[in-house]
Amino acid sequence: MGVKRLQKLRPLVVQQNLDALLVSKIENYRYLSGFTGSSGWLLISHNQAALATDFRYIEQAKKEAPDFNIIQIKGDLSDWLPSLVSEFRWRKLGFEANFVPYAVYQRLDKIIETKKVNVQLIPTTNLVENLRSIKGKDELRLITRAVELTDTVFAQIKSNIKPGMTEKEAAWEAEKRLRENGSDGIAFDIIVASGPNSALPHAKPTKRTIRPNEPVLIDMGAKFDGYCSDFSRTLCFGKPDETLTRIYDIVLKAQLTAIERIKTGMKASKADKLARDVIQQAGYGNAFGHGLGHGIGLEVHEFPALGPGSDDLLTDGMVFTVEPGIYISRWGGVRIEDAVSLQQGKATVLTRSEKAMEVIT
Ligand code: ZN
Repeated sequence: MGVKRLQKLRPLVVQQNLDALLVSKIENYRYLSGFTGSSGWLLISHNQAALATDFRYIEQAKKEAPDFNIIQIKGDLSDWLPSLVSEFRWRKLGFEANFVPYAVYQRLDKIIETKKVNVQLIPTTNLVENLRSIKGKDELRLITRAVELTDTVFAQIKSNIKPGMTEKEAAWEAEKRLRENGSDGIAFDIIVASGPNSALPHAKPTKRTIRPNEPVLIDMGAKFDGYCSDFSRTLCFGKPDETLTRIYDIVLKAQLTAIERIKTGMKASKADKLARDVIQQAGYGNAFGHGLGHGIGLEVHEFPALGPGSDDLLTDGMVFTVEPGIYISRWGGVRIEDAVSLQQGKATVLTRSEKAMEVIT
C-alpha cells in the first residue's frame, strides 16, 4: 500500500521545493504508511521514508508499515526532530501547517536557532489530503462496506424507533445497532432531530420525545477498517402534513437532479449549484444554508468540498456525499444524504436505502 502512495507524494514534495515533508496528521500518515497508531510522524524525502513513533507503538509500526524505516523517538517534535534533520542533511523541511500546534512550532524553531541546525521549516497545506481525495479500488471497497452498514442499520431502526421515544434513545438505538453489525465505532455523533429540532442541520439529540406527524431527521455514519460512511434520511411517524410533503419533494428533486447531472471535470461549486437552483426556484434558497456535500474516506469530512465557494474539481475516483436540505426555523427540516462515487465520468450512488419519505404508521 505504502509504496504506491509514496510514489504519488514524492513529486509533490519536489514541486514544493522541499527536501522532505513531515507528516503529522493521523489520517495522512495512516494513508501513506498503513500505520494505525494514534501517535507518529512520517518523514518523506525523495529516497527516505521514515516513521517516527514512541516505544508504545514500535512493534505495531513494524508490522503495519513494513516499507518504512521505523525510528523510535521520545518527547515532542522539538526533542527529536532537529537531530534527525541534521542527520539526513535536509535544508528545507515542509510541515503540515494545519497540524503542528503553534507552541510546538515555537519550541522547534527556537531549538533550531540555538543549536544552529541548518534547516528551514516550510508550511504546507493539503498535500496528502489532495491525494486522498481520489480513492483507489481498495478504498472504495471499504467505503462501500461502511455505506452498507448504515443501510442495514437504517432498515433495522425504522421499525425500532417509535413516537414516545426520546431523540437520545433513538440515537443510542442507532449507535448500538451500528456496533452490533460490525461498525468500528461511529464516524461522528449520531443526529436524531425531531420536529422543530430538525431545523438545526447539526442538531444534538435531546430529551425531546419524538411525536407523530413531524419530520424526524437521522444522520449517521459507520466506520469500516478506518473508512467512513455518512447517511441521512428524514422520516415521519404517522401522517406528514402538507408542508413536510412539499419540502421533502423539493429536497428529493434537488438531490436527484444533482446526482444525475454531476460529471467528472465539473467544478464542485457547479455541482452544488445544480441542487441549489432547484431549491431556490422553489422559493427556499435561504433555507439551504450549507454546502451540497463533502468527500468521505478516512475522515468523514474531506476533499472535495461541494459548496458555492469551492475551488475543487470533481475527478474520477472521488467519493462524496450529496445532501441537500431545507431548514425552517421553528418548523423543522428535511435532509436526504447519499454517498456517491465518481466513476467513468458520472456519479454512482453507493447508498441503497429508499429515498422516498419513509412514512411509518
Ligand atoms: Zn454529511
